[in-house]
Amino acid sequence: MTGAAGAPVVDGVLFDVDDTLVDTRAAFGEAVAAVRREFLPHVPAAREPEMLAVWRDDVHGHYRAYTRGELGFDEQRRLRADELHVALGGPRVDVDLYPRWVEVFWGAFERSWEAHDDVAATLGALVAAGVSIGSVTNARVALQESKLATAGIDGVPVLVGVDTLGFGKPDPRVFLEACRLLGTDPARTAYVGDEPDVDARAAAEAGLVGVWLDRPGIRREGPSAGSPDDAALPGVHRITGLHELHGVLGLA
Ligand SMILES: [Mg+2]
Repeated sequence: MTGAAGAPVVDGVLFDVDDTLVDTRAAFGEAVAAVRREFLPHVPAAREPEMLAVWRDDVHGHYRAYTRGELGFDEQRRLRADELHVALGGPRVDVDLYPRWVEVFWGAFERSWEAHDDVAATLGALVAAGVSIGSVTNARVALQESKLATAGIDGVPVLVGVDTLGFGKPDPRVFLEACRLLGTDPARTAYVGDEPDVDARAAAEAGLVGVWLDRPGIRREGPSAGSPDDAALPGVHRITGLHELHGVLGLA
């Protein structure tokens, strides 16, 4: 069944959390700024955008190794912290410095969790349309529940996290388990996320309706990031804000 404009009609929508519902990029910006002030005082504040890019691009793919169950959470975070410091000419983040580093970085990060502006209206409209909603994330369930609560985002249960099955997206089982828990047929469930490969493409390959949320300024670069080509599959939709979601799902 399709909508009036040929768009799919869905019974459920699953959302990614970071950089989709929560403005995680901005929160990481606050975290790297706190790190610069504390550990890298020789680095001018003007280089904070570069620091943020190094953190998010994660060129050696440590976070993705974590989502495949190959690295522990703290292990990937310390490796990335150390790479950030090496890039900026700071002290090595070894196991001795790491606890204090985490306190500074994570403290600023947690204090900065906020929802994107378009989240409340989008979720409200989906619920009003009778669509079931939930989230699927490549971080731990408890962390993401806390993040959503701090950001004031209600009614989006974290159905599957990286600790649910022991691995994360892009494995198709992650998406299928979320649909099972949501109670919707994968073919009638949309998945919305900011990463073209592990979100949009992976969801489409698992049989869901893939939606790539290409928010301005949010793309990652480098070898461990997906490219726009990943989302260039038939049936995968690209939107630049959640306000476009209703239209592409035929719910407008
Ligand atoms: Mg994301």
